[in-house]
Amino acid sequence: MTERLYLEDSHLFNCKATVTACEQNADGTYAIELDKTVFFPNKGGQPCDTGSIGTVNITSCDEKGERLLHTAAAPLNIGAEYEVQIDKERRMDIMRQHTGEHILSWAAYMLFGAVNVGSTVRWTMQRWTRTYRWMMPRAKKWKFWLTK
Ligand SMILES: [Zn+2]
Repeated sequence: MTERLYLEDSHLFNCKATVTACEQNADGTYAIELDKTVFFPNKGGQPCDTGSIGTVNITSCDEKGERLLHTAAAPLNIGAEYEVQIDKERRMDIMRQHTGEHILSWAAYMLFGAVNVGSTVRWTMQRWTRTYRWMMPRAKKWKFWLTK
């Protein structure tokens, strides 16, 4: 199982890690598993980190059961140690948006009693799109769109 370093330090952008598994996906990409990682996966409405392991670009990071798999265009050597690096600007952007969502949710709750029941941040059409869903006291659903 991968040690998730991002749980201990959200400002850790790189580490050294050993490849524990490397399997080819149906689409020709490779699923890389590490002994530890700084990559946050697609989870809880938050988009994953992107970056690199060694010289190979990592385009996605996803949970599969208890496993955490990094999607790579090329295979990596099992047992070898690599430099793991995430895109710092992307991580900081996502973290700021997440904090902003909590501030907006607090304001909506204080002003209208609306309760946040979910949010999604996605990179689509060359820009970040955020969707917030708030529940009003009388079970009236709000859908609130904000784009950057
Ligand atoms: Zn949150």
